[in-house]
Amino acid sequence: MSETTDFAAAIRTIPDYPKPGIMFRDITTLLASPEAFRAAVDAMVAPYTDDGVALVAGIEARGFILGGAMSHQLSAGFVPIRKKGKLPLETIRVAYSLEYGVDEMEVHRDAVVPGSRVLLTDDLIATGGTAEAAVKLLRELGAEIVGACFVIDLPELGGRRRLEEMGVSVKTLVT
Ligand code: 5GP
Repeated sequence: MSETTDFAAAIRTIPDYPKPGIMFRDITTLLASPEAFRAAVDAMVAPYTDDGVALVAGIEARGFILGGAMSHQLSAGFVPIRKKGKLPLETIRVAYSLEYGVDEMEVHRDAVVPGSRVLLTDDLIATGGTAEAAVKLLRELGAEIVGACFVIDLPELGGRRRLEEMGVSVKTLVT
């Protein structure tokens, strides 16, 4: 964990995006900073370096950026968890709730060798609905979830607790 990097300062908040009343936490500034991006990836993988992570699973789309770098750092493979209709071969799907309505995400049916140790990542956890859906998909494929890590936790929305209730330990850089 970098003791000198102020991750909160590297993230910016955009009011009223994508709709009025929402404070959107934008990590593109963190990604664009060579120092902050490296420090964030280093801090995110640090708890897992001795955990035998075989695969990092990233949630579309910002989880791909973080997860790709984390995979490289951990010498692990990478699995994309995608919005429906983007993967070319046979998939398994799960529906999950958005603020208004539902969506579906999917993963290739052969993406995980059963028993593999998988680390889940995304940029932010809010209600936890997205990450919960990803955990369900990975477990259906036989993954052993080592943990879930995010740059940002919005604790008042309860996502961390929701994942912990599923037996998934959660780590975040900024609350
Ligand atoms: P949840 O399912 O936990 O309610 O929402 C988390 C998902 O929505 C993540 O995939 C995350 O990328 C996206 N998300 C929700 N709010 C924000 C936000 O303020 N900033 C960013 N960067 N992503 C958000």
